[in-house]
Amino acid sequence: MATTFGGADLHCHSTFSDGLESPTALIGRAMEARLSVLALSDHDALHGLPEFERAAKGTGLITVTATELSTLADGEDVHVLALFVDPEEPELQAKLEEIRVQRDRRGEQMVEKLAAIGMWLDLGAIRKVVGDGAFGRPHIARAMVDKGFVRSLNEAFDNYLTKGKPGYVGKPKWLMEDAIAAVKKAGGLAVVAHPIWYRDPEKIVAQGVAAGLDGIEVIHADQDPTKESEFGRMASRHGLLRSAGSDYHGPPEGRKRVGACRLDEGSWNRMVEHAVARRAESGRPPLDLTPR
Ligand code: MN
Ligand code: MN
Ligand code: MN
Repeated sequence: MATTFGGADLHCHSTFSDGLESPTALIGRAMEARLSVLALSDHDALHGLPEFERAAKGTGLITVTATELSTLADGEDVHVLALFVDPEEPELQAKLEEIRVQRDRRGEQMVEKLAAIGMWLDLGAIRKVVGDGAFGRPHIARAMVDKGFVRSLNEAFDNYLTKGKPGYVGKPKWLMEDAIAAVKKAGGLAVVAHPIWYRDPEKIVAQGVAAGLDGIEVIHADQDPTKESEFGRMASRHGLLRSAGSDYHGPPEGRKRVGACRLDEGSWNRMVEHAVARRAESGRPPLDLTPR
């Protein structure tokens, strides 16, 4: 008997980057939301995927291996979702390890800058929280809240951790074009995340298409239905795949809940076709998209 397709949420974060819940907890959320497909897409990290896979066993969910890459295009920070990548591909692994080391160094520099203005944080303790994952500003912000230096994560960001503020250090980035090439080599599909975040989404997408971009995250928690249709048309115009993601980071609040954004069955099937073909082209092992 065929079961009803519950939708695909292709964007969420765990404690292996700046999310607040474990990959296991995310699988639980996906079950509660009656999703059919969930992708774990931690920032610049693949380390959460083994736990994600283990937790999915016996649930009937389809899991998608992914990561969200911080890249540079048109002078701004553009996020590229690397969906269906082979986590074992050595070049992507090496690049992410390089980025991990750079992120750790940046975290250390932020801690030093905050110490210089009297806000002492325990770098060793923060590193323990980060583990194998990607060190980011939210880790610093949470430590600042814990120490009572600020009352909220927003206050930490607004007064200390954004560009021009005393604790800010820029994040090292690679070019969007290079990231797209790396994703394809690792057998994955490259999708521009949350186009609403950019000054000129059309320009970013056109630049991406020239570099081999595969899709646009048409449905995202920060995009209302008007924007969904606008980005949907953009995807059709460029012959790109449609993607959908909640961008879940923590305990459910507002629109960013696991399953809040879902890709329909037709768009999912089209994406799978492309993903299977990409794996074959890349020479990486075939995709396993059977329900777990
Ligand atoms: Mn994040
Ligand atoms: Mn993002
Ligand atoms: Mn994200």
